[in-house]
Amino acid sequence: MFENLSERLSGVFDRLTKQGALSEDDVKTALREVRVALLEADVSLPVARDFIARVQEKATGQAVTKSVTPGQQVVKIVHDALVATLTGDEDPGKLKIDNPPAPMLMVGLQGGGKTTTTAKLAKRLKERDGKRVLMASLDIYRPAAMEQLAVLGAQIGVDTLPIVAGQKPVDIARRAKQQATMGGYDVYMLDTAGRLQIDEVLMQEVADVAAVTSPRETLLVVDGLTGQVAVEVAQEFDAKIGISGVVLTRMDSDGRGGAALSMRAVTGKPIRFVGLGEKMDALETFEPERIAGRILGMGDIVALVEKAQDTIEAEQAERMMKRFQKGQFNMNDLKMQLEQMTKMGGMESIMGMMPGMGKMAKQVQDAGFDDKIIRQQVALIQSMTKKERANPQILQASRKKRIARGAGLEVSDLNKLLKMHRQMADVMKKMGKMGKGGMFKQAMK
Ligand code: GDP
Repeated sequence: MFENLSERLSGVFDRLTKQGALSEDDVKTALREVRVALLEADVSLPVARDFIARVQEKATGQAVTKSVTPGQQVVKIVHDALVATLTGDEDPGKLKIDNPPAPMLMVGLQGGGKTTTTAKLAKRLKERDGKRVLMASLDIYRPAAMEQLAVLGAQIGVDTLPIVAGQKPVDIARRAKQQATMGGYDVYMLDTAGRLQIDEVLMQEVADVAAVTSPRETLLVVDGLTGQVAVEVAQEFDAKIGISGVVLTRMDSDGRGGAALSMRAVTGKPIRFVGLGEKMDALETFEPERIAGRILGMGDIVALVEKAQDTIEAEQAERMMKRFQKGQFNMNDLKMQLEQMTKMGGMESIMGMMPGMGKMAKQVQDAGFDDKIIRQQVALIQSMTKKERANPQILQASRKKRIARGAGLEVSDLNKLLKMHRQMADVMKKMGKMGKGGMFKQAMK
């Protein structure tokens, strides 16, 4: 289901994470591709535009660069926007079928899956909601249509209105109403005739049937594979007879997912159910979260997020390296290093990975440098002002006292931190002098 859109979107995110940093430009580029993917998936242009605008607004509002996992952030924003587009106020599975007998009108084009869906839904109402259902076919044009419904009814144990030859659809509808009332049915479903295309005669016929039965629900059954066409059909049916909801069929195939996305936005009508196969059980309540998840391919997202995290860390390291090459290493850098250390499994491992740091890692370890100390070191740096962090050499006695007090520690602790910073800054400077190529080559070893 939605394989194409899913693959395309994950392709976009793949590229994004490979590229690396999620700057605003990258988000824009990614969203441009999401837009193309949506359009190719047959989402209508205004819907795609609206969708992208919403995502972009959210992404811009959030500090993407601050996030540890910007990939996750963008995926989440796209996911949420998909859900928002797909969600209405209604509970899709809850049909207005109180006050028995409640008439339900099933409409749509021929071959869309109307008769099949009528039977699927009748089965569901019977089994899940314990409703007594009567089905009636109003399709007097297609010879086998009435028999088809009768066969399905027998199969699922739902009554069908006896076939009387020569009756007009409106008369069949009246008869169904009568039988449903007298027979004590909770719901009667009217399976109307479909045409290959929308035409006036068909619409008038459905309108007449609606006039004599006042349906509580008028569900449009459309082939989800027809994408944009499905949306246009829904618009026309809604304009002419008014529909209360949509059932998208053939959502079991690798089709374009665009119909689901456009349908709600364009028609304002809820998607109630999705058809997921030819079997009588293959009908599910429409769940925006789930559909959005399928569109994005949630399985991939976990991997994607992990990839994004790796990329972000690699980038931070690279940015720092560049600064170190220029001989810059201030308290902010140290703080970032310390925080990374706790994340990446300790001082020793990270220093061991950096050229020239192996020996120091050992010293640090010998000094009993553990996670608790790292946390204290970070607290000390946090206690410094911006200016102090950028230029630790300005730290005099009174500043030191204030910083140590702020972190709940002693000045001697701060002195240890400053000593470590000086040592590290020295090493960084040496590394910088080794030159760009040299250092990176070493770092790769
Ligand atoms: P109608 O002309 O609108 O009444 O369409 P039908 O109910 O006769 O369905 C036409 C064909 O589509 C039949 O072969 C159904 O079995 C098939 N069909 C209906 N719904 C689905 C669905 O959700 N998935 C799949 N794969 N086939 C479906």
